[in-house]
Formats: sequence, C-alpha cells, structure tokens
Amino acid sequence: MPESTQKEILSLVLPDEASTESLGKRLAEAVLKHSKEITDRGLNIRLQGTLGAGKTTLTRALLRALGFSGRVRSPTFTLVETYSVQGLAINHFDFYRFESPEEFEEAGFRDLFGAGRLTLCEGTHPLCEWPDKAEPFLPPADLLIHIDLKGDGREAKLCPENEWGGIVAKEVEESWQ
Ligand code: ADP
Ligand code: MG
Repeated sequence: MPESTQKEILSLVLPDEASTESLGKRLAEAVLKHSKEITDRGLNIRLQGTLGAGKTTLTRALLRALGFSGRVRSPTFTLVETYSVQGLAINHFDFYRFESPEEFEEAGFRDLFGAGRLTLCEGTHPLCEWPDKAEPFLPPADLLIHIDLKGDGREAKLCPENEWGGIVAKEVEESWQ
C-alpha cells in the first residue's frame, strides 16, 4: 500500500449502540479473514475516546462475533481481560487507572503483545495521541480507533498507523458500504 494511503482516516457515523456493535462485528470479520497475519505478527488496536464513548461496547461485539459466549467485563478495574477464541489470544486492556506508565512494565504487559495476539487498548486521549498512561512502554498500535460523542450517537475514526492497520481498516470500509 502506498505511503500516502496509510494514514487515511475512515470516518463512520454510529447513530446508536447497534451501529457500534456492527463496527465490532466487521472488525471481527477482518480478524478472521487475516488470522494468519495475526498468528504471524499480532494486531494492536488502540481504542480512544472519553469514558462512555463505546470502547468496551465495541470490544464486546468483536468478541461475540468471534464466537466468545462468556461474560465480557470492562477491564477498568482489572486492567486486562484475557480471552482465547478462534485460536487467538485476545487481551483487552484499559489503562485508565494507571498512575504511572511504569506500571505497564511492572505488570509484565509487554509479554501480552506480539505474534498470535490481538490486543485492544482503551484510553481517553485524543486521536493519534497517547501521552501519559502507558507511553513510552506501550508497543505501537497498528490501528487507532477514535470514538467521539456526536449528539446522542457517536462517530468513529479509523486511523491506520501502518500498512497492516490500513489493510484491516480497508476491510471494514468495504463491508460498511
Ligand atoms: P467506554 O468503554 O468507552 O467507557 P462503554 O462501552 O462502557 O464505554 O459504554 C458506552 C455506552 O454508550 C453504553 O451505555 C452504550 O450503550 C452506549 N453506546 C455505545 N455506542 C453508542 C452509539 N453509537 N450511540 C449511542 N450510544 C452508544
Ligand atoms: Mg471501557
């Protein structure tokens, strides 16, 4: 993919909770389609948006669409919730309660990133920024998903950080039509 398209942002209007869940489902379809790439190199997705934006709703829908039928809890208090589904290790982080970025290293979270793993990291910072909660220790994201409040609904912006994130965003874009 040419450099110029890598940073292209895909904006999606999400008027209700069902549309946030639909985005999660489409991400799950992209994950399944590219499961070999995830086995080889992992996929890091950063979910950014204020409290109540829908980051956990999106993750829950993604897990459901992958076939996980158990309870999907918000990791706000536990920092990470771990799932095993479709041969993938899925780690859902929420760094909201971090008091210092060093906690990322101290908790050994780095070992939960990489080949065979899909990670979803929640944060509260604006698009393409992630200044203090876990930086500089957090491995770089492949895809940022920023969720903004918009009236009673939401707007999601998918911002690929590299070619791999761009492939996943493209899958979502094509299935969203
Ligand atoms: P976060 O993890 O970002 O703090 P949650 O997913 O826990 O947010 O909560 C999001 C709240 O917003 C839920 O009450 C959910 O029903 C609602 N919600 C999710 N998506 C939308 C949407 N597109 N429009 C309106 N409400 C939504
Ligand atoms: Mg949450």
